[in-house]
Amino acid sequence: MDHKEPVLYWVRRDFRLSDNRALTAAVENGRPVVFVLIRDQQLRDLGAAASQRYEAAVQDFSERLTSKGQRLILRSGEPALVLKVVSQETGATQVVWNRLYDVGNRENDAITKAKLTEQGLRVRSFRGQLLFEPWDVSPASGPFYQVYSPFWRSVRTRTVTEPLIAPLQLPAPRVWPRSEILKDWNLSVKMCRGADVLAVHLRVGETQAQNTLHRFLIHCIAAYKSDRDYPSRPATSGLSEPLTYGEITPHQIWSAAQRHLQDGSPGAEHFLKELFWREFAYHLNFHTPHIETRNWRAGWDSFGWSATSPHLDAWKQGRTGVPFVDAAMRELYVTGIMHNRARMIVGSYLTKHMLVDWRVGQAWFQECLIDWDPASNAMGWQWVAGCGPDASPFFRIFNPARQQAQYDPNNTYINRWIAEGSEDPSAEAQSYFDAIPNSWSLSPNEKYPPKPVVDLAHGRNLALEAYQNHRAKKEKNVV
Ligand code: FAD
Repeated sequence: MDHKEPVLYWVRRDFRLSDNRALTAAVENGRPVVFVLIRDQQLRDLGAAASQRYEAAVQDFSERLTSKGQRLILRSGEPALVLKVVSQETGATQVVWNRLYDVGNRENDAITKAKLTEQGLRVRSFRGQLLFEPWDVSPASGPFYQVYSPFWRSVRTRTVTEPLIAPLQLPAPRVWPRSEILKDWNLSVKMCRGADVLAVHLRVGETQAQNTLHRFLIHCIAAYKSDRDYPSRPATSGLSEPLTYGEITPHQIWSAAQRHLQDGSPGAEHFLKELFWREFAYHLNFHTPHIETRNWRAGWDSFGWSATSPHLDAWKQGRTGVPFVDAAMRELYVTGIMHNRARMIVGSYLTKHMLVDWRVGQAWFQECLIDWDPASNAMGWQWVAGCGPDASPFFRIFNPARQQAQYDPNNTYINRWIAEGSEDPSAEAQSYFDAIPNSWSLSPNEKYPPKPVVDLAHGRNLALEAYQNHRAKKEKNVV
């Protein structure tokens, strides 16, 4: 084989040079590599905030490549066709990529692989964004794990391969193929007024991701277990954002955190356990792809969730009159991130107090989250609603007032995000009003809190009643 023939590396959600299996394979034996990023349907379908964050990741990665004498080639179209055309333009005979494991990408990748192979190209895909391939973890009996704890027990002592270092050289091809211009893709356009506000909160790129990891390990991991549920404390890693764009890998996180585990850091085991919830989400997504779109337990199909509610806008806009819910929804809108405990509370309020279908919340999160991940988002929503595997039972209804008293006793989180009623509102709380559409007609001068759109005790009773009716109907049908 001619070693000077370039290899095409199809970049997707893997904006890094280190621990990148496809890239390392592409440059082995000193072959030139052509980095190709494709604006396909998956990219067009991203939610508004994720799309803006994706653009920032592309921009950062592209600049990094340029500083190393490389280029990121941008093209639009159907991946198999684009990769075929670029291979013809450059004389490449090989294509590599890192695998993505959600339903849509798995199906598309199989089609792309088959089409390119038919064209005579050699195609190789590599383990991507997970510590273990979803099909490599299986229980002694049964096809897959439905419950997290045994899943964790089965993987916790497994050997995790050491992360790869970044290639020393990224040889460039003799001829550069044409590239589209990132700005022309208009990836931030869906954000409207919120774009400038969100931009301040983004932490973009491989170097930032490593800094985030090391800051967390030095300052926060020891107290992770005790502090992680308090949304006002900087206690969690913030790594879901760079993990989503592959700016860091779970191997790099695992490997760095292991050292703290061995040194006896009290929070290390708990942190690594959380990292495996992400793996569990992909395990479920692989074995039960319907988790993204349908009730995981079909018995919930007849439950009386509604597709809408007169209070849905209030939930989305953070003005339900329930301070913890409103603070969390505003944090989401401004930063593209919401604390994990807050995700559970707003999810419970929507699916239980308001009796709205979990898929409505899933879709709103997809629109607003910068760490939007198809597997974790679906699993999270089905867990909250009670219809998923290893889910919180439906009758466990979070009481946002009690949650606030326990996890935000000094109202620090509430005050950070709610401007109304404060003489000296925080910059974050004010920035919410800069981000939201004018059509929402909200003002920081309104009285707060208004009467809750759904009273906590009344909503809880209605939810429990709906649950009892559902159970009674099911039992009647069985009999
Ligand atoms: P840390 O507490 O520092 O945890 C470290 C890492 O472990 C995280 O970065 C994440 O990769 C993983 N992790 C932790 N908790 C979970 C969990 N419950 N499920 C899956 N992985 C977890 N996470 C996403 O990354 N994308 C989503 O779209 C998403 N949607 C969610 C929707 C709902 C309704 C719920 C309840 C949870 C959702 N989560 C999602 C999980 C969780 O809220 C975030 O991963 C977490 O808040 C990220 O913050 P962190 O990086 O500081 O986490």
